[in-house]
Amino acid sequence: MPADFHNDALRSRRMLQISAVSSAGLFLISLVADGRILLYLWGGMLMLAAVAWFAWRQRPGIAVNLFLWSITLMLSALAWISEGVRDMSLLAYPAMLVFSAILGGRRLFFPLLLFMLLFATVTGILTLTGLHQAYYYELAYRHIIFVDVILLMTGFSGYILIRDQRRLMASLREENRRVKENENLIGALANVDQLTGLANRRYLETEFQRRYRHCRDGDCQLAVLFFDLDNFKPVNDSLGHAAGDTLLRQMAERMNKLIAPDDILCRFGGDEFLVLTGCAPGEEKRIHQLAQSMIDAATRPFFIMDTLIEVSGSAGVAYAPRHGESFSEVCKHADLAMYQAKADGRHTYRVYDDSMDRVSREKLSMTAGLRDALKNGEFSVYYQPQLDIRQARVCGAEALIRWQQSDGTFVSPAEFIPLAESTGIIVEIGHWVLRQSCIACAQWQRLGFAGMTVSVNLSYVQFRDGDLPGKVKAILRESGLPAQALELELTESMLIGESVHVQRQMDELHRLGVRFAIDDFGTGYSNLGYLKRFNAARLKIDKSFVSGLGTSERDRPLVSAIIQMADSLDLAVVAEGVEDETTLMQLQSLGCHEAQGYYWSPALTGDHFVRWLQAQAADMENLC
Ligand code: C2E
Ligand code: CA
Ligand code: CA
Repeated sequence: MPADFHNDALRSRRMLQISAVSSAGLFLISLVADGRILLYLWGGMLMLAAVAWFAWRQRPGIAVNLFLWSITLMLSALAWISEGVRDMSLLAYPAMLVFSAILGGRRLFFPLLLFMLLFATVTGILTLTGLHQAYYYELAYRHIIFVDVILLMTGFSGYILIRDQRRLMASLREENRRVKENENLIGALANVDQLTGLANRRYLETEFQRRYRHCRDGDCQLAVLFFDLDNFKPVNDSLGHAAGDTLLRQMAERMNKLIAPDDILCRFGGDEFLVLTGCAPGEEKRIHQLAQSMIDAATRPFFIMDTLIEVSGSAGVAYAPRHGESFSEVCKHADLAMYQAKADGRHTYRVYDDSMDRVSREKLSMTAGLRDALKNGEFSVYYQPQLDIRQARVCGAEALIRWQQSDGTFVSPAEFIPLAESTGIIVEIGHWVLRQSCIACAQWQRLGFAGMTVSVNLSYVQFRDGDLPGKVKAILRESGLPAQALELELTESMLIGESVHVQRQMDELHRLGVRFAIDDFGTGYSNLGYLKRFNAARLKIDKSFVSGLGTSERDRPLVSAIIQMADSLDLAVVAEGVEDETTLMQLQSLGCHEAQGYYWSPALTGDHFVRWLQAQAADMENLC
């Protein structure tokens, strides 16, 4: 590792310097020494040369051990042959201990200390008991040189080692400061949404808890405003993520201008924003105004990549502690209120109330039930006849799913289909409905009702895995139904902003011979471009316009316009929700071709539908 290498290199360099200085010192002393002392000094210098060699070969561990042991032994030998425990060589002992602590560590320090203690003690005792003869010299000039050199050697070595330690400390302090700085930076980043620069969910949660504690002491409440763009996905899908990101940033800027300095605006994720603000008693009106101004801000057009983009927003408000004490609870309730606003037609806001929670709990248990319903055979497919009202004959049927509960009651598909879509279970359910419908229609044809078709409602989720054409083909093959007898009903909203992914699958299905009908026409965008692009064969006029025909004049021009437009595009028109004869007559006078509704029959079980068909065959002229 680089840090170790650096450390080893430094230690080796220090050992080289120390051995050089020590050799110089020993050499100086040797100039004024004689006899055995001189012998030991040369021995010491030889060892120092070995130390220098190891240091030079980057083996600082061996160099340190060798240095301290050889110098200590040399000093001890010098003391032994001279003045024993009183010898000035022992002046260098403490310095050797300090070096060993700095350079070596415990495994060097303690043995060395033990050796010195033993040597001093044993030499002292032996001298005192007369077993060893110490030689006490008269003070001479060379002793001054000995002391000076020892002090210079140990002083110099001590100085460079301590200086290294100090530098190390300083660099550690600097490192520490940098780590702290980075920590703060990471902390700040962890609290910021990278796309918009607004606070993020984490920060908001911490702030919520802090302010909530504060609030509880007084009598104020905290308001959480949950804001969600209504039609952001089509922007992302059709113009790309870069455009979507720009829109979110611009939206963040607009919202930032609306909040008070003390409020916190955060991006909660995706196209969701959240505002946390204090709310003193009687201040609810201000919160409602804030919600409204955010919705207004979203409605102002955005200009991105030379394109004018229009979106809208919905908001939900919940208060702490009234609607919950924890952050997650209050957010969940503000979210539910926001969903209510969307369900109530979008582009508006709602304040949470307990009924929303009950509804959501019911939905939750329904979702759990959905998972088992298919396995337990709780679903069935009902068929509602579709009639050619010009030729007074049954031409097909719409397949409508039914979910019967154990108590015999039915859950409306309008309720459970959106749940099945949001959980993805619709893929399996839709596949099952498709299979049942094709098998049933093939049976009608075998029973002699040639030319009968079946219309199956399709969810956009069923396009997601990309293999809808493959699945349809397999079902057609299995059931023996000609592709021309199958119609898939799609709503316009499914096609808006949908990608080439959907287009490709629809083209492939079209090539198979499968037809498409646009369901609930008139309630969505009523955009002709989509009809052409997706090769629709039929338009189904939504029952809300049809049912008004018999009673009011208001819907007649609209239905008339749809029929004329369909005619000019060579599309057939099916009117749904015909409940009485007056409506039927109106449709006939407007030139409508086909219809379905309670006037003839509600959706029937497979068996009942066959019986109904057989009964009608016998009584054709009374149909229309
Ligand atoms: P939709 O496709 O618009 O289906 C027509 C709805 O109008 C059906 O309600 C039908 O029972 C009802 N209806 C038919 N004739 C009349 C009439 O004369 N008067 C009135 N007032 N209503 C009439 P249903 O069966 O409750 O289905 C509701 C919606 O659930 C359907 O609307 C469709 O969007 C969806 N759905 C039903 N089955 C399926 C399915 O298998 N898959 C998918 N993805 N969606 C389904
Ligand atoms: Ca339908
Ligand atoms: Ca419909």
